Amino acid sequence: MNKYLEDLIKLSKFDSKISSFEPQIDNEKEKLATFVEIAEEIKKGINDTYAQIDEIKSKRTKNNIHLAELKSKLDDISKKGAIVQTEKEVKALQLEEEIAKEQISFANEEIERLDKLSTVKEEELKELQEKLTEEENGIKELQVAVDSAIEEINKERNVVYQDRSELLADFDNKVLTFYEKIKRWAKDTAVVPVKKQACYGCFMKISDQTYAEIIKSEEIINCPHCGRIIYKEEETVEA
Ligand SMILES: [Zn+2]
Repeated sequence: MNKYLEDLIKLSKFDSKISSFEPQIDNEKEKLATFVEIAEEIKKGINDTYAQIDEIKSKRTKNNIHLAELKSKLDDISKKGAIVQTEKEVKALQLEEEIAKEQISFANEEIERLDKLSTVKEEELKELQEKLTEEENGIKELQVAVDSAIEEINKERNVVYQDRSELLADFDNKVLTFYEKIKRWAKDTAVVPVKKQACYGCFMKISDQTYAEIIKSEEIINCPHCGRIIYKEEETVEA
């Protein structure tokens, strides 16, 4: 095979390999991101629950203050009861007492309701915290796995970079420029094999005459349809 063509094939393979590393790393990071997202959701739930508990507590405090006020009102009513004279005054006082007692029972009911609600919310909070701990432990474990996978990818990437720069050390400049021009639009498919007599970049059929040239592998040949550099892959490589 033409040495330049051989070099081009190698270079193109290195470049495709290099391009494949970033998505692999992103993929690893993506795994972690999903877990982190779930943990963030749980944290938000915890904060919301704390806010709800605070609100319940503040409502309970208000009811307690109200209750104390009502009780002192009842005391006043009973003091007044000792000094009222007329039946009209007695009746008015009785009515006032009835209303205060009703309000006291309502405040007590409300406090009971708030206490029940508070217990439910505390329980929810506990569950969320347990879930968060579980999620965070999962993240820690996954982080280790992701870190080591990324490290492996980086190691492999360094090897490819090294091989690539060794290849470029005595690479023909004209051939390199030619390759880079095609690479500008063809990206990682600047150099493609011919399979079943078709260009593997544009998938168009190659004429018998061009195909015969390709099989000889004596020169660098461009696909007549798309302009990519095409070559006949060795049977062993294909297998
Ligand atoms: Zn083509």
